[in-house]
Amino acid sequence: MIIKFAVPQGMCGGVASAINQIEKLLQDPQTVKPIYMLGSLVHNKIIVNQFQEQGIIILDGVNKEESINSIPFGTIIFTAHGVSDKIYDLALKKGLKIVDTTCPNVLKTHEIVKKKISEGYDILFFGIKGHPETEGILGLSNKIQLIDDSMKISPISKKTLLINQTTLPFKQVQTLYKKIKNKYPLIELADEICSATYQRQKAALEQTKGADICLVVGDIMSNNCQSLKQVIESENNVKTYLIETVNDLKSIDFSNVNTVALTSGASTPKTIVDAIINELEKYK
Ligand code: SF4
Repeated sequence: MIIKFAVPQGMCGGVASAINQIEKLLQDPQTVKPIYMLGSLVHNKIIVNQFQEQGIIILDGVNKEESINSIPFGTIIFTAHGVSDKIYDLALKKGLKIVDTTCPNVLKTHEIVKKKISEGYDILFFGIKGHPETEGILGLSNKIQLIDDSMKISPISKKTLLINQTTLPFKQVQTLYKKIKNKYPLIELADEICSATYQRQKAALEQTKGADICLVVGDIMSNNCQSLKQVIESENNVKTYLIETVNDLKSIDFSNVNTVALTSGASTPKTIVDAIINELEKYK
């Protein structure tokens, strides 16, 4: 059996930087305790469990306002997905020590949205309903309309910007943008797929061509892992499994597999990928 690896793959700079900031916080004797995290730092249970074991308290990331209000004092970590200004200001007002690990790519999307709103624009945001990045953006203003690719859009004004979540499948974004531009020629477009997402999806598409199956290593809740799976299946028509640990290999039938392609999500620790590769070598 041949194993093909997509390059690049695995942990992105945004996630690595967020983890790094929290490790520093845990080591710093000046850190105000207890330490809370507003939702999961990234969508990866292994990483989040490790932080919990080190004493970080994970708060409900859905009802963010309620979560912040429940904290009497301490340090609050905002996750890589970002929060709205309202949530940030609430934590400030409560006198909490804030550690903001929002990825710079997400912050850039916030800045574009805020600038355009200040110029009188309405915003269409293409994202996953309920995802923390989407919720953070929607919380910026009531002039933002969440859309999916069903093209169900309320009437739009002359000054409208269409912008998107950073980790969506890039082909899906390109297709939707083309359709919307045809229907509303005056609309402005800002494709905010981050470069880590784009490069991982491009590499996965190249490496999975001709493979019998593909393995995406990462957490089932991770949007960038789900996007990798979707891009590979829809563009290359290769059966793709999203696997979280080495144990998941047991449920896959390798009997007729000559070539397996492997990639991993932007929040997947390298140790997990290495363990899966070691196990796969035994199937050769
Ligand atoms: S996937 Fe992109 S947006 Fe998300 S943390 Fe990584 S670099 Fe940032």
